[in-house]
Amino acid sequence: MILIQGKGVSKGVANGPVYFFRRPGITITDAAAADIETEKERIQAAQEKSMAQLNALAEKARQETGEETALLFETHAMFVEDEDYVDCMMDTLEAESCTAERAVEIAGEKFAAMLAAMDDVYMQARAADIKDVTRRILNNMMGVVEGGIDSEVPVILAADDLAPSETIQLDKSKILGFITQGGSGNSHTAILARTMGIPAIVGLGDALKPELGGRTAYIDGETGQVAVEPDEITLAAFQSKYEKQQEMKELMQTMKGQEDVTLDGRKIMVYCNIGSPEDIAAVLSNDGRGIGLFRSEFLYLASDDYPSEEDQFQAYKEAATAMEGRRVVIRTLDIGADKQVGYFGLQKEENPALGVRAIRICLNRPEVFRTQLRALYRASAYGKVAIMFPMITSVWEVKECKRACQKVMAELDAEGVPYRKDTEIGIMIETPASVLVAEELAKEVDFFSVGTNDLTQYTLACDRQANDLGKFFDPHHPAVLRALKIAADAAHKAGIWIGICGELGADLSLLETFLAIGIDELSVSPASVLPLRARIRQSIAKTCTLELLEC
Ligand code: PEP
Ligand code: MG
Repeated sequence: MILIQGKGVSKGVANGPVYFFRRPGITITDAAAADIETEKERIQAAQEKSMAQLNALAEKARQETGEETALLFETHAMFVEDEDYVDCMMDTLEAESCTAERAVEIAGEKFAAMLAAMDDVYMQARAADIKDVTRRILNNMMGVVEGGIDSEVPVILAADDLAPSETIQLDKSKILGFITQGGSGNSHTAILARTMGIPAIVGLGDALKPELGGRTAYIDGETGQVAVEPDEITLAAFQSKYEKQQEMKELMQTMKGQEDVTLDGRKIMVYCNIGSPEDIAAVLSNDGRGIGLFRSEFLYLASDDYPSEEDQFQAYKEAATAMEGRRVVIRTLDIGADKQVGYFGLQKEENPALGVRAIRICLNRPEVFRTQLRALYRASAYGKVAIMFPMITSVWEVKECKRACQKVMAELDAEGVPYRKDTEIGIMIETPASVLVAEELAKEVDFFSVGTNDLTQYTLACDRQANDLGKFFDPHHPAVLRALKIAADAAHKAGIWIGICGELGADLSLLETFLAIGIDELSVSPASVLPLRARIRQSIAKTCTLELLEC
């Protein structure tokens, strides 16, 4: 048996084979083809494989998410066979005597450029589809594993650490749990694991060796323990904990359909955080009453070019429709810092967390912002969408965001496109500056949502990604809790609601403090909804105190 100790960042016990994440890497050279006919056959084989994958994906989407996503995969399948596109690949092969990879790459670039140059907005949006299809054909040709996991059975996914753009592409149905050498409780692997309701352990260091790949491991996301090929006693302990976990899950099912109300009648909204429309199924199955944070970055991270208005609209509409009139708070683009997106061409910064990120990018690039706002307002016609701006520090930023919204609404009015005029606008409170000017900010918006991950980072001057800050990174610090209280008082003075969408919202040991502070909404990972509801229903709001705010 090998025992490794890390930091548990998402609770739960799981067991399965350890699988090391494979980073796809495509390098296409200008080398000449040895034999054109062989290269043609390679293209055809990759096309056939792509068709089979896309048809299977369309079928899966039809059963799991609905007709719209299924149609998207079917359109991709049509592109794979498109006569002009295929002719372009074959002609390039003949003309340039290049490799199959190069011919596919050139054809993909040509077609994407041609579509992007068209007048029709719908056709322009298809450029991103052609790029996606081209990447799929190339992946199949070069044996790159989509989703990074080439395994028939679900696995414990091991990695040094995973970048946001990598977590977004993972085939989640194959993952039982995460174990990483680096990372922190606020890293994206941890957030993803909590959204999926599976265990995760970070900070395992060099003890997590690639040689462990293929061996059976038991992991405990509460204690941070990884046991590879455990002995009998350890195995029995893991199994007993697993059984208790299953019993607790069953018990929690009784919370479905119950109100989120304390014993003395204080109601609180329990919403969910999601990272993509894929997560909506978990929101519904865990009876989340709304979506308090939809991180829209997934659209930008999962693509290798700016997502079109149409693609964004479809994703937001899917969430709005699926939630059937319940509130869906969609946060505008929050990239920069740890979420890097190559095609944005952001300058390298010494301190990216303090640099051009989130709303700063949007205000610097009005076209990118406008595209997203148009998609959001269009989606508002299909449910109760609310728009939220991240990383606000000043009142002028909010005024500028609102002006951008007004402009977009005027455009949609002129085009006769439906949208909801009363779409709520909110901001994230995640910088000390926003707390200090909260009274002024509250007059401008419909709600506040506290991003405690960043608020803790900026208040305590502790990098949220670092895993060696130990006791210095303390989200229970009175400074963080007092910041919440200041923001809550400012919100209520202006008559607006305030929620928490950072990871702290799911910390049951703080629930009474949140109730005492007057928090109106908690947005947590779908798996945390039912345990939170159970705790709310056992609490008496009247007797909750602010004592944690003391030093
Ligand atoms: C936060 O900072 O608490 C938050 C919810 O936003 P993110 O984790 O996406 O930065
Ligand atoms: Mg944040």
